[in-house]
Amino acid sequence: MSIPALIELKNIIKDFSLGNESVRILKNINLTIYEGEFLALMGPSGSGKSTLMNILGCLDNPTSGTYLLKGEDVTAFSREQRAIVRRNSFGFIFQRYNLINGMNAVENVEVPAIYAGLNKRERILRAKDFLSSLGLNERLDYKPSQLSGGQQQRVSIARALMNGARIVVADEPTGALDSSSGEEVMNILHKLHREGNTVIMVTHDSNIAANAERIIRIKDGEIQEDSSVMPERKSEKILSGQVQDKSSFLTETIEASKMAFRSLRINKFRSILTMLGIIIGVGSVVAMLAIGTGAKQEVLSRIEAMGSNLIIVKPGAPNVRAGGDIATLTLADAEAIKQLPNVVGAVPEIIGPATVRFGNTDYLTTIDATSPKFSEARNWQTVSGVYFDGTQNNSYAPVAVIGKTVANILFPNTADPIGQYILIGSVPFQVVGVMSAKGADSQGNDMDDVVFVPINTGSMRLFGRTYLKTVTVQVSDANQMDATQDAINDLLLKRHHNVEDFQIRNMASILQTATETQNTLTYLLGAIATISLIVGGIGVMNIMLVSVTERTREIGIRMAVGAKSKDVMVQFIIESLVVSLIGGIIGIATGVGGGILTSVTMNWLAIFSVDSIAIAFFFSFSIGLVFGYLPARRASSLDPVIALAAE
Ligand code: ADP
Ligand code: MG
Repeated sequence: MSIPALIELKNIIKDFSLGNESVRILKNINLTIYEGEFLALMGPSGSGKSTLMNILGCLDNPTSGTYLLKGEDVTAFSREQRAIVRRNSFGFIFQRYNLINGMNAVENVEVPAIYAGLNKRERILRAKDFLSSLGLNERLDYKPSQLSGGQQQRVSIARALMNGARIVVADEPTGALDSSSGEEVMNILHKLHREGNTVIMVTHDSNIAANAERIIRIKDGEIQEDSSVMPERKSEKILSGQVQDKSSFLTETIEASKMAFRSLRINKFRSILTMLGIIIGVGSVVAMLAIGTGAKQEVLSRIEAMGSNLIIVKPGAPNVRAGGDIATLTLADAEAIKQLPNVVGAVPEIIGPATVRFGNTDYLTTIDATSPKFSEARNWQTVSGVYFDGTQNNSYAPVAVIGKTVANILFPNTADPIGQYILIGSVPFQVVGVMSAKGADSQGNDMDDVVFVPINTGSMRLFGRTYLKTVTVQVSDANQMDATQDAINDLLLKRHHNVEDFQIRNMASILQTATETQNTLTYLLGAIATISLIVGGIGVMNIMLVSVTERTREIGIRMAVGAKSKDVMVQFIIESLVVSLIGGIIGIATGVGGGILTSVTMNWLAIFSVDSIAIAFFFSFSIGLVFGYLPARRASSLDPVIALAAE
């Protein structure tokens, strides 16, 4: 009777490198195993039994030689292909049981089927069946730590059988058990053998080995003796059918996500701490951007409120920052500008400090001597009284229109200031109007801390000079702004004998400068917040790396029962993604809350854009992916044999 070989090992050599030295552990192993055999591998400790078992079970590759499994050379297989072979063809039973500590009996038994893509309901049913048939129906939801050694080993046998693998590889399955538990385990192995499974068992106990049909003795990495009895085929019934491998990318990803959530739940406190970094990072990005955008909006709207059809002429050469007053722009210049086409008005201003007095109150403020057109040109009205007019200007009338701040200080008892006389310096002026409140300008100066007087009166009686601080030119057609600006330039050049001792800017360019300044500020805030986000990401990576180190053995177990590198990789990336995304969502909520709180308490404007929230979300996703990748790769590239040996 000739039966095709199930396993054929030819000239198998295994070397381990210790430092820079290479040690030969298996020396030219030749071995043929037939389906349905019950084989015991015996030998002293350190003789290479486990090494051989790991190669047989496709956990490890030989250094050289061929391994034919049902005629296929598995040494040529990729890591992933070997994982699939382990998943479908082998059931491992280890001396130390190798159960995953955080999981109960059923969940441990489920693991191989998860990787085979069996759905949850079938999986649980099947796991419970196996556990019950091994006498564990009372212990289904017990964690490994709540089970005796014999019970744990039975759980691990159930796990080995879960995918319906027909080759059971048991490395000293009774080694850690008392004799009666050991006997139970042997009975189970016998039963599996009777049911047609191939059982390969390592033991150094000859009583245990006596259970097997065939005994192979190994010493110093060489086969010393092989009882080599051709097996009789004797199959009673198959305990269970093979699980059809239905794993797909989708099922694998879903299962990996579930496992990720589980392990995050198990390490709740650590997960929350990890999230904290992301929460702070995302929260500050969202809040900072909102505050930055709000500040920008506020400044721009203040500038825009002045009107977009304005051209500002100032004395002094362009790009020269001269201190003090520059005496190059005169009232006559303003009058000449007023005559240009497309110019509605040219409002001159002489500005200087002066002390104002009413009753016993002295107050140092800014005097703005300007034309009657100022109010209209700046779109700034009085709240009570009137703005002075042309007649008053022409007659050098001592009248004043006061800003809200000045009104509040000089007339605190809300007595009507209109008609009252105040002293500006030593000159009495009659208050004819109070301006509406404007608030702070783009530099934060109080625009209401001002007293307006007619320019003629101011220039003669207060300042004693006629040169101007600014001329604000109002154009009628804003589209002709550039042409008008050129015309003003030509005019002033002519009047100033070709000396460019003035500068002309329009509101558009002022607006642009302000926008740039505010953008810079926003970017700066954003950059600071981004740094904290990156720090948060590094935190995630750190914790994930620690987690990989802590769970090395778990990773080894998963790989031994059929997890592909990719499955492990996906699980760890998803863990990190979940931490980052949950952190990101909480962070966005915190950022919005913090932004609103700041804007309420500090009276700042905070503008939340969908963009910034989307960016924050995207960032937390990327952080999960990027910073999760390294730990995940490290986990997935672990050698299963080495991972299993980890403490
Ligand atoms: P057994 O299971 O027969 O007791 P092993 O197969 O576990 O023996 O080990 C055989 C020899 O190989 C031992 O000397 C052991 O130290 C060595 N060995 C096993 N695994 C490694 C490894 N990953 N690196 C280096 N040496 C190893
Ligand atoms: Mg061993």
